[in-house]
Order: sequence, then structure tokens, then C-alpha cells
Amino acid sequence: MHNFTYEQPSTIDKAVSSSGRFIAGGTTLVDLMKLGVELPSALVDVTALPLDQVEVLPNGGLKIGAMVRNSDLANHPEVLKNYAVLSQALLSGASPQLRNMATTGGNLLQRTRCPYFRDPSSGACNKRDPGSGCAAMEGHHRMMAILGTSDHCIATHPSDMCVAMTALEAVIHVQGAKGTREIAIGEFYKLPGDTPEIENVLEPGDLITHVTLPPVADTKQVYLKLRDRASYEFALASAAVVAHVEDGRIRSVRVAMGGVGTRPWRSHGAEVALTGKAPSVATFHAAAEAALKGARTHPENAFKVELAKRCVVRALKMATA
Ligand SMILES: Cc1cc2nc3c(=O)[nH]c(=O)nc-3n(C[C@H](O)[C@H](O)[C@H](O)COP(=O)(O)OP(=O)(O)OC[C@H]3O[C@@H](n4cnc5c(N)ncnc54)[C@H](O)[C@@H]3O)c2cc1C
Repeated sequence: MHNFTYEQPSTIDKAVSSSGRFIAGGTTLVDLMKLGVELPSALVDVTALPLDQVEVLPNGGLKIGAMVRNSDLANHPEVLKNYAVLSQALLSGASPQLRNMATTGGNLLQRTRCPYFRDPSSGACNKRDPGSGCAAMEGHHRMMAILGTSDHCIATHPSDMCVAMTALEAVIHVQGAKGTREIAIGEFYKLPGDTPEIENVLEPGDLITHVTLPPVADTKQVYLKLRDRASYEFALASAAVVAHVEDGRIRSVRVAMGGVGTRPWRSHGAEVALTGKAPSVATFHAAAEAALKGARTHPENAFKVELAKRCVVRALKMATA
């Protein structure tokens, strides 16, 4: 049994000045503690912090507290009305019981489902034990990433919510020892490179306080998730599309993918291939080609290239119909 202390601060300042590992819904962290992958000596429960509100901002955007539960966010009237891609992504993830526990902050920081990371007895993992190697390279890699990988790690980023937030250009707000700061979601996650254990730009002790979404007028939004089972399963490939079509042309579009990248994967290449064009199957295929350019596969996950292309094409059809 691994011993740890527990405290539940009621203010953000107290939480930030505590030294320990933040725990919110616990649906990732407690699992990893039981598996012996994470062994924090102190837990700082952040669920009593006043960060559980969703508010419309004066500019028409949205402010989402870090403690807002995934189920509450998915069903919030403002999200249903203006950020459908986020609601769809959240509802495609996990199970109702898990969504009732999981929080916005915790979802942003959930860790990979790579089996070699999650099971210390299963083989080497540079993310869990830096410098030990990567058993997934020569092992089972059907679920692994094909974009953004390195010779040290091919673990997939698992979140659905973060893919939608990437397409929505979310901004993550943090409070830490050095004060507050804002980080665009596109700058938040790091590629594995030769330090796959460093997954994002947070400093130790940084608390995510909230996320803001810019306004998204006149867009049609789609989250499409392809997986082995219809529910309670992580994505093999997913696509989030936020598109504005006017006078028969795609005036603006944002495309992000899940299940294929080592981080939530935005495809600027796909967006360039689409912008200014009339929606057509040929244009969607060109965008999908651009989105998967540079994919590096292993024998068991090579199918993801074609699957992800079809996912992008289908999501684009739906978002521009
Ligand atoms: C069986 C199962 C199936 C699942 N299926 C899916 C799926 O299909 N799609 C999907 O996207 N997800 C899925 N998930 C993952 C689930 O969405 C995450 O576990 C959940 O979102 C994590 O939120 P939490 O509040 O429970 O985080 P916690 O477990 O409490 O914390 C996760 C991490 O975030 C840190 N943290 C939490 N809050 C903050 C904060 N405010 N500031 C700084 N750090 C913080 C913690 O220290 C920890 O490192 C599944 C999980 C399970 C167990």
C-alpha cells in the first residue's frame, strides 16, 4: 500500500500554494495510482474550488471552469447551441457515470491509454520510466499514434474533448507560483520527441482554472468518432470540423483529429486545402490527404491512415451539407 496525504482546499490560492498532486474526478489519476504508474505522496482535491461554472463572455465566447463536469458541459444550453462539436465530442467519450465524475481540467490532462504505459509489468515505456525504451514499437501497436510520433514514443493522446477544443481554438487559463497565464491549446501539448514524459507546457504546481472558447458565429460543427464499439471506447480515428460556408464557398474551416496523434491533432494543411473552395468530394479528399501527410505507421496501425482520411472526408461532408 502506498501512503499519501489528502487535503481539500476551498480557495484557488490555497490550492496553488499546496504542494501535492491535484485530483479532480479521479477517473484517470486513481486508476493510475492503483496500477502503480503514478505514486503521489500528497493529493490536493480541487473539487471544492469555485470553478464549476459555465459563463457567456461579453464577446460572445464561453468561459468553462476547470471543475465543470463533462456531463454538465455536454448538456449546457450554450454549448448545445453554439459549440455542438464540443457536446458531441464529450458525449462520445467514456460512459455516463464517468462523464458525471470527469472534469474539464482533468480531461485536458488525462494520460495516454497505451497499455505499456499503464502496466509497469508489461515492458519498457519512456513515458512512464524515461530512458527505458518503448515496448510498443515492436509490440502491439494497433491503437498507437501515426502522427507526431518519435523514435521514443508512439502513444496516442486519448481525449475526445481536447480534439473539439482544438478545432474551437480554446485557450487554457492557468494559475501557478508565477501568477496567471493563458496558453492556446495549440501550444499546450508537447510532441514526445526524446522526452515523452513531458506532455504539456505546465510547470509543477500549475492549476488549470478555466478554459475560454472564442465566439463561433455562423459555423456548422461536427465531431465524428470511429471506434471498435459504439460506446465506451476510445477513438481509432476521429475528426472535429468547424466550418463556415457562404455563397457556395468554404470561407473558414478548422479541422482537428483524434486517435491518430500523440497530441490532439490540428491539420492546418487540410484547412488550406479547403479554404475558399466549393465543398466537393474531390476537395475533401485533397484535405484528407493533406491531413495525413507525414503519417508514420507500424504494421498493426497502418490501417489508421485510410480510416482517418475517410473520417475527415465524412466529417467535412456533414459539416458543409
Ligand atoms: C473506462 C474509461 C473509459 C474512458 N473513455 C474515454 C473516451 O472514450 N474518451 C475520452 O476522451 N476519455 C475517456 N476516458 C477518460 C476520461 O475522460 C478522463 O479520465 C477524465 O476526463 C479525467 O478527468 P478527471 O476529472 O477524472 O481527472 P483526474 O483523474 O482527477 O485527473 C487527471 C489529471 O489531471 C490533473 N488535474 C485535474 N484537474 C486539474 C486542474 N484543474 N489543474 C491541474 N491539473 C489537474 C490531475 O493531477 C491528473 O494528473 C475514459 C476513462 C475511463 C476510466
